[in-house]
Amino acid sequence: MELGLLLAGLARPVDMFMRCSFLLALAALLVGCGQEGDSGHAPRRDSAVDPGHDAQPDGQSGPEAGARQDSASDGGSTIDTGAGPDLAADLPAAADLPADRSSSADLGAADTASGGTDAAIDGPGTGVSADIGCALAGSIAVDSLPPISFVTYHDQLQIETYLQSVASALPAIAQYRVLGQSVQGRDLPYLIMNATCQASPPAIFANGTHHGDEPASTEAVLAIPDYLLRKSTTDASVRSLLGTYAFYVLPLVNPDGFALSTRENASGVDINRDYSYPDRSDADSFKTVEARLVKSLQESVGFHAAVAYHSGAQEVIWPWCYTGDATADGSFFTAAGQKTAQAMDFLIYQQSYDDYPTQGEYIDFAYWKSHTLAATFEVSSSKSPAAALLASVANGACKGIIAWVQAVSDHDKGSLHSLPATAAERRRFPLTAPFDGTNRLE
Ligand SMILES: [Zn+2]
Repeated sequence: MELGLLLAGLARPVDMFMRCSFLLALAALLVGCGQEGDSGHAPRRDSAVDPGHDAQPDGQSGPEAGARQDSASDGGSTIDTGAGPDLAADLPAAADLPADRSSSADLGAADTASGGTDAAIDGPGTGVSADIGCALAGSIAVDSLPPISFVTYHDQLQIETYLQSVASALPAIAQYRVLGQSVQGRDLPYLIMNATCQASPPAIFANGTHHGDEPASTEAVLAIPDYLLRKSTTDASVRSLLGTYAFYVLPLVNPDGFALSTRENASGVDINRDYSYPDRSDADSFKTVEARLVKSLQESVGFHAAVAYHSGAQEVIWPWCYTGDATADGSFFTAAGQKTAQAMDFLIYQQSYDDYPTQGEYIDFAYWKSHTLAATFEVSSSKSPAAALLASVANGACKGIIAWVQAVSDHDKGSLHSLPATAAERRRFPLTAPFDGTNRLE
């Protein structure tokens, strides 16, 4: 249909919302705005009220775009669970929109009516909810970033306060959110950074502390925003990555275990064995609220790549965990793993199964369901190294995600030199001591 032709003429990645805005600007028909592209994007109330984007469907609107002001008003103070399981409640129906949002009410209706809310939960998509504003990497006022140092471990309140302060300092590119609450009611806070000036850039997900007794992984993830943002001012490659991908940073998947220093969540369940994988359905998985929360974010955003941070070893590992068969992307994983291990000064990079077999890990779920190029970084030989070592651990962890995302970027561009990934080839890579089945759980 002609609307389809119009839509097809708009280059990706341009989200459904931008297309609708564009059509509005052309006084085109609104009907049909939800007929495609509702495969996973999260609500975009901010851009919905952003007239500055209407005439610029490529998202290259000026830095004073209205969405920026919206997020600025949210930054650091308002909890927005928009991408979480409360999505439906968070996304207003058109009739609920305030009068001053009338210009976007129809868009909201189209988006909601299309099933976008459900789709955001149900299906992996290319959409990203990181409608924050517009400031390209390279023009970010990093001098306003709050200071952070890694000389002692941070507790949950410090983590939340810090992430809020980053969002407050850089409202044009950063937003603080809470994914939901743990068994014992603790928040799972996260930060979105989007310095792409695109509404739907491909997104990268860094998460830590699936295992509560691995606080080095918490610190590793907490270090990412400051490191990436500051590095982008001096390193063109990092600036390019920040200008290409949105970053979702979730340091505390398991805040109860973190508080209790337990591997498992407060119900005694290992969250990183609770995800579905090709041999186990969703219905037989996701017993923990924390894994369900990560699932909701994973599926609402459809991450292009991800890193799950753990500690207790030093290695880079990737799917599959549940089988020794290589994935269809085994060559990518092997090449990216090698480059990342080198960047982190680690000797070991291998398919996770070759470390030891597991079932129900996040990275298998993310790769299987969303084709997310997901890896696990084991960032420290100790799960909780001495505080004096934290800065080094955090530094290496940040170098690691840059290397991983750079490999993803190279892969996207077809310029990554792949490495063989057959089982026979894999054995040539360094291996850890044989797993005895009991005492090595990172
Ligand atoms: Zn772990």
